[in-house]
Amino acid sequence: MTQPDTDTIVAIATAPGRGGVGIVRLSGPRALAVASALMPASRTLAPRHAHFSSFRDAEGQLIDEGLVLYFPGPKSFTGEDVVELQGHGGPVLLDQLVQACIRQGARQARPGEFSMRAFLNDRMDLTQAEGIADLIDAGTVAAARAAVGSLRGAFSDAVNNLVEQLIQLRIYVEAAIDFPEEEIDFLSDGKVAGDLNDLIHATAEVLATARRGSLLREGMTLVIAGRPNAGKSSLLNALAGNDVAIVTDIAGTTRDVLRETIQLDGMPLNLIDTAGLRESPDVVEQEGIRRAWQAIEQADRILLVVDSTTVTPAQLDQPDQLLPEGQRTLSSLGIPLTLVLNKADLSGLPPGIQTNHPDTLAISAAHGNGLDALREYLKQSVGFHSGESSPFSARRRHLSALELALTSLQHGARQLGDHAAGELLAEDLRGAQRALEEITGVFSADDLLGRIFSSFCIGK
Ligand code: GDP
Ligand code: ZN
Repeated sequence: MTQPDTDTIVAIATAPGRGGVGIVRLSGPRALAVASALMPASRTLAPRHAHFSSFRDAEGQLIDEGLVLYFPGPKSFTGEDVVELQGHGGPVLLDQLVQACIRQGARQARPGEFSMRAFLNDRMDLTQAEGIADLIDAGTVAAARAAVGSLRGAFSDAVNNLVEQLIQLRIYVEAAIDFPEEEIDFLSDGKVAGDLNDLIHATAEVLATARRGSLLREGMTLVIAGRPNAGKSSLLNALAGNDVAIVTDIAGTTRDVLRETIQLDGMPLNLIDTAGLRESPDVVEQEGIRRAWQAIEQADRILLVVDSTTVTPAQLDQPDQLLPEGQRTLSSLGIPLTLVLNKADLSGLPPGIQTNHPDTLAISAAHGNGLDALREYLKQSVGFHSGESSPFSARRRHLSALELALTSLQHGARQLGDHAAGELLAEDLRGAQRALEEITGVFSADDLLGRIFSSFCIGK
């Protein structure tokens, strides 16, 4: 595992823009020396006390005055010496403070570098670091509550619990393998099968909770497809309703014109409008379109909006044939598709789910008929219940790891049942443990850490 860098880093910790207070944070062995160089020579900083001081640049020019807090390592956020300079919240003066620190030998921190140091110094594990980022990015109260849970270690506890059980089981199985003459007895005495079964259930339960946490954080992504005039914009507006609250972006991407996030009873609903997916000479727009396609590939569902006055009953059985020219590629992505028969008021279709056709609903976007049924249907399709909460937040990478652990355990159970094969079971248990430990970062590839922390913002 990478060792923490030993240089001293600095960044503005508060949000960009103007505010009453702005905080510049230093972390590293020279944090105190750098901060002291900005203050009158007589100033000494008692640990964890607020001191009032002036801040000056190398030429002695006054930049600001405010509070200074010194947290000696290892009992600090990063585990290193940390100093916070709390000045006034103006972008220019905070930048001057950062520059003054850099002139004294600090280095501008990279995104997420404070959190990464905290992780590398064992001040928290990966799910807790991710919990911080999720808390800051939370777009709903339920998402924020779940993130606080992760921050406080609820997710880590659940995972560590599984690992603990897994280790006990592995000890037993490895011992059986070491005594081959008794191996069969060992493995068929029922204890291994019973413990393994318990572990499978416990893992499935954590996975289900993590899925809820992930839904609260990331919600579901819908692609809205269809011909011009089918009613896509009307449907978007109807779903958005009065809800102008823009929920968080998917981490690592920026907002663009093609995408909008609304809330569906507390679950973020990410909408991608295919109307914007035209060819464009504009570079910025091209970038937006490239990102939209990336998001589309990850989408949970395609809503194909058609003008119901133009469809024949025969076409309902082959909905993806109704995709307009130019959006046909959508049908090859393997994403579930729902047919939305719009303008039910004109065609006389009964609004709501069409019982004769799977995944087909009739609505009137303009008049609001059938929209409640559509909302209910969408929530059900991802297993979201209104008012849902989760004791911790989770990300896709957590879900994949838990799924991998679960499949390994189930595979191990089959090995045991079919062949009483100790070696093979042991291998599956090892795999499951590795997957689980990737969640908390006990086991981690360096590039995984880089990917996680680089999606944080600077100063975190
Ligand atoms: P888009 O091109 O797919 O985004 O379609 P629009 O949402 O812009 O709608 C096209 C036209 O159909 C507009 O004149 C809408 O007022 C009309 N429209 C949309 N939904 C309905 C509906 O449910 N009933 C009726 N009667 N008209 C609708
Ligand atoms: Zn439109």
